[in-house]
Amino acid sequence: MPAALPAPDLSDDSAPQRALISFVVPFYNEGVNVEHFHEAVTGTTLKLPYDLEFIYINDGSRDDTLARLLSLHAADPRVTVLDFSRNFGHQRAITAGMDHSAGDAVVIMDADLQDPPSVALELIEKWEEGYDVAYAQRRTRKDTFFKRVTADLYYRLLERIGDIKIPRNTGDFRLMDRKVVLEVMRYREHDRYMRGIVSGVGFKQVAVPFDRDERKHGESHYPWSKMMKLAGDGILGFSTFPLQVITRIGFVVAALAILLALYIGISKIIDPSSVVPGWSFIVISVLGVGSVQIITLGIIGSYVGRIYSEVQDRPLYSLQAVHVGTAHERRYPH
Ligand code: UDP
Ligand code: MG
Repeated sequence: MPAALPAPDLSDDSAPQRALISFVVPFYNEGVNVEHFHEAVTGTTLKLPYDLEFIYINDGSRDDTLARLLSLHAADPRVTVLDFSRNFGHQRAITAGMDHSAGDAVVIMDADLQDPPSVALELIEKWEEGYDVAYAQRRTRKDTFFKRVTADLYYRLLERIGDIKIPRNTGDFRLMDRKVVLEVMRYREHDRYMRGIVSGVGFKQVAVPFDRDERKHGESHYPWSKMMKLAGDGILGFSTFPLQVITRIGFVVAALAILLALYIGISKIIDPSSVVPGWSFIVISVLGVGSVQIITLGIIGSYVGRIYSEVQDRPLYSLQAVHVGTAHERRYPH
């Protein structure tokens, strides 16, 4: 009788532990993408000499995303499912994923395969070369003309007025070494702009250019409202420029007032009768000052809003359940 192949002895502690890489992926109404994504990412990463764990966050989906994620969890012991009690948004979902990851490196990707798994391999190569952060940078994007133009303008603006350098045309598709993850996890701000936080923590960072694919299945969950919110978080979170603008507007208005006073003064000297019918000046200046005040209040208001949400200090998310992948329970920090 031929001897059976010896089963791998998982309890052997003397064997050197392989590095663990965590994939953190948020799912919001991505039922159609669950299996596609998992197949693609596990297929592509098959040959990697690392242990893998997949942390999939169900961000309050209303479709069958959770059920599908749970069957992956049942079939593949490397899959951990975090189930949010409601939709908390992409940025908090990836935060939760990082909080629950144990990997020596963490890769953050979108679930819709717009971030190609082959590029994740390139990010991992950069990590092997010794980089702490490898971020995927869009060389091209298959979006509408309007979205490309507005995105480009936005990144230019952010680059000009931002306090820290946030690389252009990068999303949240990136790899972070454990030490960067630990650092990023210390930022608990509520209006999160993760790519800004990651750029802000420093360490050795490198860009990996890639061509962003079109979404394969389903539709975008970033409507204009969410996009504007994220854009606002980027600016308000990493720039005090809007506050500086208030002061600048103040100076401009003051200068105008002085000019106006001079004009009236000179007119009075030259021709006293010319000043009386100047009610149009009054109306224009009242409206002008009024609108400046409103804009200014709006800007202050957005900062006050942030202070308010920090002071409230609410938890960033509430988990309904954590379905830990059994393969890596022994490494799980909790
Ligand atoms: N997403 C999420 N919560 C949300 C919106 C989006 O977890 O409230 C996830 C979504 O499932 C996807 C990723 O964030 O994995 C990027 O979203 P999407 O593809 O809709 O954005 P786009 O690529 O259009 O900017
Ligand atoms: Mg997408």
